Amino acid sequence: MDCDCVENMATALDSRCPICLDSWDDASYVLPCLHQFCFRCIQRWAESKPECPLSGVQLCRPWLGSGGP
Ligand SMILES: [Zn+2]
Ligand SMILES: [Zn+2]
Repeated sequence: MDCDCVENMATALDSRCPICLDSWDDASYVLPCLHQFCFRCIQRWAESKPECPLSGVQLCRPWLGSGGP
């Protein structure tokens, strides 16, 4: 897997959620790679597949860092 290539794409898209391709809705980041997704998007994703949609790394538990208070 070419992780660097995916990483660069992610950086270019960082104003939008890479899953729904829409603006952030409750932005949250995953551990350990700190990629950001909507809370609902990544929650649904991780339930079926506990790895980062962008980098493919296995998510740590707890895999969500809260985006806000
Ligand atoms: Zn989303
Ligand atoms: Zn990632």
